[in-house]
Amino acid sequence: MYCPFCSATDTKVIDSRLVSDGHQIRRRRECLACHERYTTFESAELLMPRIIKRDGTREPFNEDKMRSGFSRALEKRPVSIERVELSINKLKSQLRATGEREVTSEMLGNLTMAQLKELDKVAYLRFASVYLSFEDISEFADEIARLGKESLSRGKNTDKNTDKKTDQKVIKNTGQKK
Ligand SMILES: [Zn+2]
Repeated sequence: MYCPFCSATDTKVIDSRLVSDGHQIRRRRECLACHERYTTFESAELLMPRIIKRDGTREPFNEDKMRSGFSRALEKRPVSIERVELSINKLKSQLRATGEREVTSEMLGNLTMAQLKELDKVAYLRFASVYLSFEDISEFADEIARLGKESLSRGKNTDKNTDKKTDQKVIKNTGQKK
């Protein structure tokens, strides 16, 4: 690619490493002409299922839209970009793993909630309150109570266990929405 600073065509890679759990390669490049340094990310472009909306219309899976949903829910929450990207990658793998060419927006919503629940309970509640459109304060309170019970029963789990747990959660969550 052209250097973003001077548009020269000769750049050299000075460092490259795997990020996002191995789903991306991050390359540090230096322009041979102006010596500016910049970073590029490379990831596989794989076919995502299309999304069937509630009204029956279809739309292409939109990663940017999903990412902004995550950011909105996670605004001012103590969660690193790296963990958010991991969750997004996990969610995309789950969508592909369905093997379906089309999945419902409901399923996408449930998978999103499952990921947010793992990342941050407050973000999860923010998303869920909009997505599940809680009717009143008591539904909201019920969900908070459920969350409280869940974290009690999970006890002190280390981060290393979260991968497995997310998968179990997802299976449980996919059929759960009213
Ligand atoms: Zn340059």
